[in-house]
Amino acid sequence: MKIGALRESYEGEARVAVTPSSATHLQKLGHEVVIEQGAGARAGFSDEEYRRSGVTVVPTAAELIGQADVVAKVRQPTEAELRQMRAGQTVISFFYPAQNAELLALAKEQGVTAIAMDMVPRISRAQKMDALSSMANIAGYRAVIEAANNFGRFFTGQVTAAGKVPPAKVLVVGAGVAGLAAIGASVSLGAQVHAFDVRPEVAEQIESMGAEFVFLEFDQPVQDGAATGGYAAPSSPEFREKQLAKFRELAPQMDIVITTALIPGRDAPVLWTRDMVEAMKPGSVIVDLAAEKGGNCELTVPDERIVTENGVTIIGYTDFPSRMAAQASELYGNNIRHFLFDLTPKKDGVIAHNMEDDVIRGATVAHDHDITWPPPPPKVA
Ligand code: NAD
Repeated sequence: MKIGALRESYEGEARVAVTPSSATHLQKLGHEVVIEQGAGARAGFSDEEYRRSGVTVVPTAAELIGQADVVAKVRQPTEAELRQMRAGQTVISFFYPAQNAELLALAKEQGVTAIAMDMVPRISRAQKMDALSSMANIAGYRAVIEAANNFGRFFTGQVTAAGKVPPAKVLVVGAGVAGLAAIGASVSLGAQVHAFDVRPEVAEQIESMGAEFVFLEFDQPVQDGAATGGYAAPSSPEFREKQLAKFRELAPQMDIVITTALIPGRDAPVLWTRDMVEAMKPGSVIVDLAAEKGGNCELTVPDERIVTENGVTIIGYTDFPSRMAAQASELYGNNIRHFLFDLTPKKDGVIAHNMEDDVIRGATVAHDHDITWPPPPPKVA
């Protein structure tokens, strides 16, 4: 079958869903690969490089959609793209079905099969297709690089002939995939790192990375990550008060705050309030990775970098993976080609959309003129 990658139409998106290297793997599965002209340019992959990997380059998006059996994308398909698609065709991309009900209805109407990379079940077998994790890992790392670039001081402590330099103090709020990557990058730059999460089971992971878990004295059990599938649920008002009191105590001491706290299906919890920002030292930096979901910091402006009156920089960019487009595309391209590996069981270039397979079923949000989201719970843990 023909797998085609579009040039992303979303403004500022530099990633691409198929790279020259992932195209080679897709061909080994018996598929042909096509890209829209310039699809990889912003990620550093020229049309020429694709051609050397056996990929056909077509001049327009319309031509690509016309030719491809499977259209691969990073961002969710636009309405215009879906309207150009035909029954039986597949689109594979991030989709966020809960936020894109209209696109989902259109996919159903068009008879397009939509595979949402954000809905790949987070079970061990599917880790190689887990694009949420591969992108969150990049976002966490890049958040630290942006913080360091805006901080203007050393992260590591130094004793030099010219004087002593203290290590930067970093607080990471939320220690999921992005938070752990931010902890790793901050520790390796030599900072003193503190981290907090509502899921107590991550304390060990935080400490094993060389950071200090911010401990909250709280009598009742906070929450059982296992009971929520590894994800957080909203905190009780009492817990939240304790948490905010602790952050108020830490605010004047921290140089860098990186917030990554998310609760699936909800707006991000506001955890870093105006008075905490006001209590921070001039020159401090906040990077809010939850900006797209409303932000963990009360003053975050999505997609902007602002400096407050007391000299605190707040970064609300929402495109961290795209800022490392080459590697983000390599990893995302790998996630996609692993998914296509499972869709091509005989490696003969024929796609078998097996809805009995937990991973395929979980990620398929529209199929055969039907909306297939939300999926039934997976049979295998
Ligand atoms: P996420 O992006 O939904 O949330 C980020 C973090 O914010 C989470 O650790 C969450 O506990 C934390 N958080 C929520 N509310 C908070 C609050 N009020 N204060 C502080 N922290 C708060 O999560 P994620 O990074 O996508 O993943 C979370 C977990 O999912 C992982 O740690 C893991 O257990 C599981 N996971 C499993 C797999 C797999 O098995 N393949 C892959 C990835 C993640």
